[in-house]
Amino acid sequence: MTDLAKRPALTTDQADPTTVWHKTVCVLCSNNCGVEVRLDGRTITRVRGNKAHVSSKGYTCEKALRLDHYQNATSRLTTPMKRLDDGGWVAVDWDTAIAEIADALRRVAEERGGDKIMYYGGGGQGNHLCGAYGSATRKALGITRRSNALAQEKTGEAWVEGRMFGTHTHGEFHKAEVSVFLGKNPWHSHGFDETRRVLKEIAADGSRSMVVIDPRRTETADLADFWLPAKPGTDAFLLAAIGAVLVEEGLVATRWLAANGRGVEETIAAFETVPIGSFAERCGIDEARIREVARRLAAAESVSVYEDLGIEMAPHSTLVSYLQRAVWVLLGSFAKPGAMTAHTAMAPLFSYGASGSEPTDPVTGGAIISGLVPCNEIADGVLSDSPQRTRAMIIESANPVHSLADSDKFRRAMRSLDFSVVIDVAMTETAEQADYVLPAASQYEKVETTFFNMAFPENRCCIRPPILAPLDGTLPEPEIHSRLVRALGAIDDDDLEPLRAAADRGSAAFGEAFMAAATANPTLAAVGPVVLYETLGRTLPAGMEGAAVLWFSAQQVALRHPDQVRAAGHDGEGPALGDRLFEAMIANPDGVAFTRHEQGQAFDLLRTPDQKINLAIPELLDALRALPEAETDHTTEDFPFVLSAGERRSFTANTIIRDPAWRKRDPEGALRLSPGDAAGLGVETGDRVRVTTPGGSAVAVAEVNDTMMNGHVAIPNGLGLGYAPAGGEPELTGVAPNELTTTDWRDPIAGTPWHKHIPARLEPVTT
Ligand code: SF4
Repeated sequence: MTDLAKRPALTTDQADPTTVWHKTVCVLCSNNCGVEVRLDGRTITRVRGNKAHVSSKGYTCEKALRLDHYQNATSRLTTPMKRLDDGGWVAVDWDTAIAEIADALRRVAEERGGDKIMYYGGGGQGNHLCGAYGSATRKALGITRRSNALAQEKTGEAWVEGRMFGTHTHGEFHKAEVSVFLGKNPWHSHGFDETRRVLKEIAADGSRSMVVIDPRRTETADLADFWLPAKPGTDAFLLAAIGAVLVEEGLVATRWLAANGRGVEETIAAFETVPIGSFAERCGIDEARIREVARRLAAAESVSVYEDLGIEMAPHSTLVSYLQRAVWVLLGSFAKPGAMTAHTAMAPLFSYGASGSEPTDPVTGGAIISGLVPCNEIADGVLSDSPQRTRAMIIESANPVHSLADSDKFRRAMRSLDFSVVIDVAMTETAEQADYVLPAASQYEKVETTFFNMAFPENRCCIRPPILAPLDGTLPEPEIHSRLVRALGAIDDDDLEPLRAAADRGSAAFGEAFMAAATANPTLAAVGPVVLYETLGRTLPAGMEGAAVLWFSAQQVALRHPDQVRAAGHDGEGPALGDRLFEAMIANPDGVAFTRHEQGQAFDLLRTPDQKINLAIPELLDALRALPEAETDHTTEDFPFVLSAGERRSFTANTIIRDPAWRKRDPEGALRLSPGDAAGLGVETGDRVRVTTPGGSAVAVAEVNDTMMNGHVAIPNGLGLGYAPAGGEPELTGVAPNELTTTDWRDPIAGTPWHKHIPARLEPVTT
C-alpha cells in the first residue's frame, strides 16, 4: 500500500449530497479553472469558483456555469456499439467488444504491420490521462503513427520553438509591462490564469500597455492601448516591419544578445532587407503607428507575447511564429519578471527538436513534427494507394470528422480503412464512421488532469477526483486500455502479482520493484501506464486508480528538477522525493505547486546544445527575405471575402456540448460581417446568407457587426453538431466549419491548414 490512506469513494455517498460542494475543474478551456459544484443526483445544479485552487484562486468565466451541459446535455453511449455489414449498429457487451477489437487490431498489425495503424487524439482541454494510457495500447500493437488536433494548430510553433529554444516558452502576462496578443482574443480563448481579471488590470494601469494584432476589434482589442488591425493574412508583413524598425532605430538589446543569443548578425541582416514602408502598406497599418509600437516594446522592461489560432491557421503561419519570437528575443525579453520564459512540465505534450530535422511521413512526405502526422494529410494518406498507408485507426476523445479540414474527405477515409474504433462519450460525427465505438466515462466520472501546465517560476498541477460514478455501461479509459492490452497478450497476472505485492509494502518497495521489472522486461516497460494502473492504482484512494500513471511523471519531474520540487514544498531525496510529490498531488484536489524556480534559473530550462537562444533559422530567414514577392491577397472574383472559420465566442466550447439550448445568445452561431459588406449585399441581422468556399457551401444566419473589417467574415467553432432530444432524430444547428474548408491550403513547413483565411463568396438567401 502507498503512504496514502484509502479514502471513501465519492462524496455523493454522503447523507445530504445536494448540500455538498465537490471540488473539480471547468473543462471548457485549457485553463481548467478550479470550481466547486453541487449535485442533485447526476445533475450539476450549482457552480462556483474554488478560491483555494492553486492556479485560478476562485476565478471563472461565464462558461463554467453551464458545465451541466457538458455532463448531461449529450446523448451518452452506455454500451459498446458494433457496426453491422448493412451499416446499422448493434449493442455488444464489453467482453465481446474488447475481444473483437483486439483481434481486429492484431490482425492488421500482423498482416500489414503495427506502423499501418494510426492512433489519433488522446485528450482534450482537461483530460490528458487517456492519452497516457492510450500509449500502452499503441506500444502493445507497435503503433508509431499518431496525430491529434495539435498537428493542425501548434506544430508550426513547435517547429520554431524547437530550433530556437529546444523547448516551449510562455509569457508572464500577470507582470508584463507590455502584453502582445497576436491572432488571439484572450477575453474568450483565455490561455493564462485569471485571464479577464489580468486584462482589465493591464488596461487600468497607465504604466503597462496591451497590443492586440487582429483584423477584428475584439473584446480584448477594446481594452488595448494599441489595436493593430492588420489585413487578414498579412501578419508576417507587420511583424517583419516591427522587427525591422527595432534594427533600423538601434533598439535591439545588443549586449544581452551577445551573451545569450546565437545567429544574431545574420538575423539582423535579414531584417535590414525589410522595406518597412511597403510592408506597412501591405498590412494596412500606418508606418508611423508601427514605429510607435516598436518603440513602446523597446522601452518596456518586459514584453510577453501570446500567439494563437488567428495566425497559426493562416498564411505564413510558421514564419509569423518565428517573427514574433525574433522580435522579443531582439529585445532581450526573456527570463526576467514579466517576460517570456521556458517552464517545466508535469508531462510534456510536445517534444521539441533542436536538431533541425524531422522525419517525414512515408506516404505524404509531410514533416512529422513532435511525432505527429500533419492533420491535413491524414485523409489523403489513407485514401492513397501507397502500400505504406494507414489501414486502421484508434480514435480517442477526439472528433476529427468535425474538427479537421474537409469533413467529407475524412469520412471517406474512415470508411476505406480495414478497421477503426472510436473511444468517446457519445456517438460523435467520427464515431458514426467507425466499426466499433467504446463508451467512455465523462470527465467528471473519473480521475483526470490537464498537462497544459505552462507557468514559471512556479508551475502547478491539479489532479481532480471524480465527482460522479461512471454512468452505467461506461468505463474510464485506464480500464479500457488495460483490457485491450491484456486482450492483446502484452501483460498477464503473472507479470503483475509481484508488483502488486510490492505496492502493498509501500511506495519505496513499489518503486524499486517497478524499475527492476521495467528494466528486465521491455514489453512490460512499454505498457508501463497500464502496469501502474493495475498495480499501484489498486492501492490509491477509491476512484483515483487512474492517477497511477502520474507516479511516473512525478518521479521524472523529481529526477530532473529535485531542488525546484523541494522549493515547491515537497521533501525527500531521489525516488522518495517523487513519491512525496505524487502523494501531494493525489491528496489535494485544489492542486499543488510541483516546481518553484529562482528567476535566474530560467536559462537552465533551455534545451539548445549551448543553452543559448538560436535566433537564426535558415529556412525562415529565407522566407523573410522572400516576403516582398509573397502574395497578400488570396481572394478572387469568385471568392471575394476572407472567411475565418472557427472563431471562439461566449457560447463556443467542445463538440460534446451539443444541445443548442446552452447558448443564451447567438443560438445558431451567426456569420458575422461588417456593416459595409452587409449593405453591399443587402443583408440585415437575422437574414440567411449562403456562404460558399472552394471546399463547400452552407447557409448561415447573418449578424451585422461593426467589429468586423470590410471583406472579412467569421463563423464560430463548435457548431453544426447533431443533437437528438430524447427519442428524436438528430437535428443540426449552425454551420460546421469544416464542411467549408479544404486540406489543400496549408503552411509549407508544418502543413497546418488555413482555417482562418478561406476565400469565400456570400449570397443572400431569399427563399
Ligand atoms: S476560463 Fe472559463 S472556460 Fe476556461 S476553464 Fe476557466 S471557467 Fe472554464
